[in-house]
Amino acid sequence: MIQDLLNRPLRDLRISVTDRCNFRCNYCMPEDVFGLKYKFMDRGKILSFEEILSLAKLGAELGVTKIRLTGGEPLLRADVVKLIKMLAGIPEIQDLALTTNGYFLEKKAESLKKAGLQRLTISLDTLDANLFKKLAGKHLNLAQVLRGIKAAQDVGFSPIKINTVIRKGVNEDEILKLLRFSNESNLIIRFIEYMDVGNLNGWEPQDVFSANEILDIIKKEFAVTAMDKNYKGEVAERYSITGGGEFGIIASVSQPFCGGCSRARLSADGYLFTCLFGNAGVDIKTDMRNGASDKELLNKLRNIWQNRSDQYSEKRSPNFSKQTKPKVEMYHIGG
Ligand code: SAM
Ligand code: SF4
Ligand code: SF4
Repeated sequence: MIQDLLNRPLRDLRISVTDRCNFRCNYCMPEDVFGLKYKFMDRGKILSFEEILSLAKLGAELGVTKIRLTGGEPLLRADVVKLIKMLAGIPEIQDLALTTNGYFLEKKAESLKKAGLQRLTISLDTLDANLFKKLAGKHLNLAQVLRGIKAAQDVGFSPIKINTVIRKGVNEDEILKLLRFSNESNLIIRFIEYMDVGNLNGWEPQDVFSANEILDIIKKEFAVTAMDKNYKGEVAERYSITGGGEFGIIASVSQPFCGGCSRARLSADGYLFTCLFGNAGVDIKTDMRNGASDKELLNKLRNIWQNRSDQYSEKRSPNFSKQTKPKVEMYHIGG
């Protein structure tokens, strides 16, 4: 097991399998920037499944036990089911998960399950069909995401987590509706504070709807009891509510958790990032394509991790003031 400069092990690897997405969530890929003319990564630059598998195996040698596929929208990557089958065969990987906007789940849930995917997280910021179009794209139908969630449950994914980013003045009115829906449907919802990831979404400190504000709203309707974390390093604070349901809050801005951060992120074009707020990752793909041996790659990965000291969220000023340094975009490395 390796540790970084702050004694944090490497446990989780998040792999972005594509930078493309069919949604245009305005906090991630705003439509005015990612319009028809936007140039996504060339196919040749994107890691092949064999390259991803090799890197995942090397990660496992260094301590990775959890892999999450993300993007962009991971279900847009052709044959992603095949990749899941390949990753599911790595003995050290105890947890294989995927985060999706849910749009293609109705068609793909069954094959994902059969391929060995263990857990699904589905992003859903509203239950209002019009607000959904406003937040993610006019061409989209909320009903299709809801059918996707149902399809995933029908093939046996359980428990499914729902990721909901709450922004002040945008969707705080959805908190109770989404919590009731999740509770009734046996889903575990996690409310996420809006983060200053990337440089394109115009994030302002006053857009953050904090964990305490979220809790205040929930407490108006439910009795809330704090629960223990499932495991060390879990990012969500867990709560149970009247009647036995559960929800979580990921307070990345108001209560940062860098101290337990054991996550590395691999971009679709093969750069390794040791923090969600990094500005430049380390190019691994070029070495691979130039014939570096597994031993050389392992040393490189080990070195990157052992020299890591990232603590972006904890160092962010207490009043969350805006940073001006360029940062990688969320759609590039996934959540
Ligand atoms: N397309 C997939 C999806 O939306 O689930 C996977 C990739 S998406 C980048 C992963 C997660 O990041 C989503 O749950 C999304 O809501 C979240 N996210 C994106 N931008 C964010 C931001 N600025 N603050 C907080 N969460 C964000
Ligand atoms: Fe696409 Fe996910 Fe970003 Fe929304 S959050 S634009 S679904 S990558
Ligand atoms: Fe980890 Fe960076 Fe997020 Fe801190 S800010 S929890 S180091 S990804």
